[in-house]
Amino acid sequence: MRKQIAAANWKMNLTLQQAEQLLDNVISRPYNLTGHQQVVFAVPFPYLAMAQEKVKHLQHIFVAAQNCYSKKSGAYTGEVSVEMLQSLGIEFVVIGHSERREYFAESNKFLADKLDICLEYRITPIFCCGEPLNIREAGTQNEYVAKQLEDSLFHLDEEALQKIVIAYEPIWAIGTGKTATSAQAQEIQAYLRSVLASKYGSQVAENISILYGGSVKASNAKELFSQPDVDGGLVGGASLIADEFAAIINALK
Ligand code: PEP
Repeated sequence: MRKQIAAANWKMNLTLQQAEQLLDNVISRPYNLTGHQQVVFAVPFPYLAMAQEKVKHLQHIFVAAQNCYSKKSGAYTGEVSVEMLQSLGIEFVVIGHSERREYFAESNKFLADKLDICLEYRITPIFCCGEPLNIREAGTQNEYVAKQLEDSLFHLDEEALQKIVIAYEPIWAIGTGKTATSAQAQEIQAYLRSVLASKYGSQVAENISILYGGSVKASNAKELFSQPDVDGGLVGGASLIADEFAAIINALK
């Protein structure tokens, strides 16, 4: 079975003390995680070392950065390289979150470069895609998201593609309390898998985890994750509440 993942995206929230408390609270609970289930905490850069120290001996729990730069090193003041992340033992990085695309004008091509450097340093990118409200209202979400995949992923070969996790996050559902219905999530995620299959073959497409993100919470996680093409979630707001995120972890199939 492909990996089922509960990924927390803390965004720009929490002090160091609050972050430590939340992480301790969530990871100290008993979970019955099996080999195909993973939990990932995407934490702010200053907390990566702290979080990595806490999870490094835990089998199914990992830390992610929320971003990285597309260059190896050099005069890029304020940026963080994948080599730095690798040196901390970080194994995942979120790439192309809609907030990065919107507020920092990150293009599909720029994200393609970030994916390449992550893969070069053996860090798993969690590649975010998803349509804004006007595209959903026009009914052209499939074409819109397929183009994001084509522009950022389709230069990869089969082996590289299978090292990527995709997170489908309709922008109208992020932080709004509006969740896509499980049928809407299933429909577009099955479509995205078919887009991958048309380029790479169905065997490759079947191996790729596609997470859903957009107001996932304890009360809707089980229903969303039960869909055949929903392989867990990328969770913002609810990941800041220990009981909520623990319940989301327990909802993984
Ligand atoms: C996110 O940050 O990727 C996200 C989906 O946020 P929220 O769960 O708050 O909608």
